[in-house]
Amino acid sequence: MLKNMMTEPIFLVPDAGESESILNARWQERARAVAYPPSTLPVLDQRQRPLRDLRISVTDRCNFRCTYCMPKNVFGRDHPFLSHSDMLTFEEIARLVKIFVRLGVHKIRLTGGEPLMRRHLENLIALLREVDDRIDLALTTNASMLAKKAKALRDAGLRRITISLDAIDDETFRRFNDVDFPLARVLEGIDAATAAGFQSIKINTVVKRGVNEHTILPLVKYFKGSGHIVRFIEFMDVGSTNGWRLDDVVSAAEIVRMISAEYPLEPIEKNYHGEVASRWRFKDGSGEIGVIASVTQAFCRDCTRARLATNGKVFTCLFSGQGYDLRALLRNGADDETLARAIIALWQTRDDHYSEIRTGQTVFARRMKKIEMSYIGG
Ligand code: SAM
Ligand code: SF4
Ligand code: SF4
Repeated sequence: MLKNMMTEPIFLVPDAGESESILNARWQERARAVAYPPSTLPVLDQRQRPLRDLRISVTDRCNFRCTYCMPKNVFGRDHPFLSHSDMLTFEEIARLVKIFVRLGVHKIRLTGGEPLMRRHLENLIALLREVDDRIDLALTTNASMLAKKAKALRDAGLRRITISLDAIDDETFRRFNDVDFPLARVLEGIDAATAAGFQSIKINTVVKRGVNEHTILPLVKYFKGSGHIVRFIEFMDVGSTNGWRLDDVVSAAEIVRMISAEYPLEPIEKNYHGEVASRWRFKDGSGEIGVIASVTQAFCRDCTRARLATNGKVFTCLFSGQGYDLRALLRNGADDETLARAIIALWQTRDDHYSEIRTGQTVFARRMKKIEMSYIGG
């Protein structure tokens, strides 16, 4: 029986000990009861946040073992990665995207794991372009395979790319990826992307205290004037395996102070309401950097993002412990209206604001079982 049937709002939050299957059954019951077509487009959640963005993880596998994301001791040789049949096919992804777009989504980011490990990813990009050419489509990659793939991705219709790069010296970079992968090949990938003519290339750097603060200034120096924007991200407590401690976080404010002392900066307006990065430009006119204060300045208030995991489960927060199984619906023959209702029911009952309650409650946070970053995408 659907809980609180008579008393709105109905949150799809699991009760203690409630299994994912019971939660999913409650979700289906809710889906049958929602108004269709929805009363607002885009669909709004309990905090009036529109469903605008979708992150799609196309694989849970990765050739790196970044210690903050897929530590080797947890993601070893015998780790049970998803089988091919567990993963959504490109056609299934495109079908879901079509429905998400109808409900208001206009930004889509492909991620992983390492998305370029999914074979022929360019075919998915071409399919998504067919769904709607106006979708703001981007890819996040570690760039290890980008030298080979950049042109095919660009030709398939990808215009924006974000490259994760945590250091610009080979020794620190190899320590970060923990598989002894050379920095030079990533730089070749960035050069190939530049040559392929992407409209936007961003570099994302996660900063962990005592590990790569020393690479902040060299990274800024390397990309200054290149047109590529480096964005520094506070180390987050995603998943349950990366041993996160608040002391490891270098705050965005500290990062800006450090850079500005060497290369004077001034703040600039966000590109659009809800942009997660704060923007700073070099006073000498040679470009800009960004900082993403995901820990010290929570941006839940503007969080308009749903996440589709590799196996077709939807998560409404990076820190959720429970996913909602769209793949089961798809493979049981659900029509588009049923799928749309399921997504509407999920979004309209969403109340997530984990980062806002995290600070000061890190003990609570550590006790929670959360989904891993490599499974859900960044
Ligand atoms: N493999 C691709 C890559 O590294 O770009 C895409 C997936 S990765 C999970 C997406 C982003 O999440 C990367 O930029 C990575 O640095 C970031 N990330 C992973 N774990 C993180 C953490 N604990 N805190 C902050 N960012 C993290
Ligand atoms: Fe792989 Fe990206 Fe995670 Fe590093 S951050 S382990 S490259 S998925
Ligand atoms: Fe969005 Fe959850 Fe992150 Fe808040 S904690 S910004 S709701 S993903």
